[in-house]
Amino acid sequence: MAGSLIVGNWKMNGLGDSVAEIAAIAGSGRPDLWVAPPFTLIDRAVIVAAGAVSIGGQDCHAKVSGAHTGCVSAAMLADLGAGFVIVGHSERRADMHETDADVRAKALAGQAAGLQIIVCVGETEAQRDAGTAEAVVGAQLAGSLPDSLDGLVVAYEPVWAIGTGRTPTPEDVAAIHGFIRGQLQARYGLNGRGVRILYGGSVKPENAALLLGQANVGGALVGGASLTATSFLGIAAAA
Ligand code: PEP
Repeated sequence: MAGSLIVGNWKMNGLGDSVAEIAAIAGSGRPDLWVAPPFTLIDRAVIVAAGAVSIGGQDCHAKVSGAHTGCVSAAMLADLGAGFVIVGHSERRADMHETDADVRAKALAGQAAGLQIIVCVGETEAQRDAGTAEAVVGAQLAGSLPDSLDGLVVAYEPVWAIGTGRTPTPEDVAAIHGFIRGQLQARYGLNGRGVRILYGGSVKPENAALLLGQANVGGALVGGASLTATSFLGIAAAA
């Protein structure tokens, strides 16, 4: 899909020499490519990206500063030159027990720092099997989204598709993205039509065209296949 936004989430991967991948991505000349390396590489990534790729954080704290050992604020990300932050990734919701209220507070912090924010939602396999995917995603949207659309991007990532090589059918992707669009319009009115909704979960160069070709899919959030410029740009080329 022309104009797709492709976002890489490196998770807890990458050492200093990995920024060469970002340099290669930046050299592609392709617009709308964002990469979220680990916090430790953001400084160097911003330099090699040279404005051609937006660099972001994978998380932020809800507060601007204070006694929160080991945490990084949205203001700190912005100070490094980051352009966006991912909040509410399912791995953080599961591993760090982040609630919708936590995610919303982080989204507000990201907006206050002037960052674009990617708010992640998605159901588990058990929830999909129980027929509650829309109810789960609807509740996550209601509880996690900020009141303002400033810089807002939504990512739908079924938990069972992340890192598994499995993906929903194109029909299921279209159906739940249509549901999310409806929720955004109900919440934000006509402006909800313009919010970009990414699909995430085992996107690869081979399946990108099909998944990104579905209605209301405005791009992809990519984990494993974002770790090398070759596979990340392969997705971008197919999008
Ligand atoms: C993710 O974690 O956001 C993700 C989509 O991972 P993967 O592409 O590896 O499934």
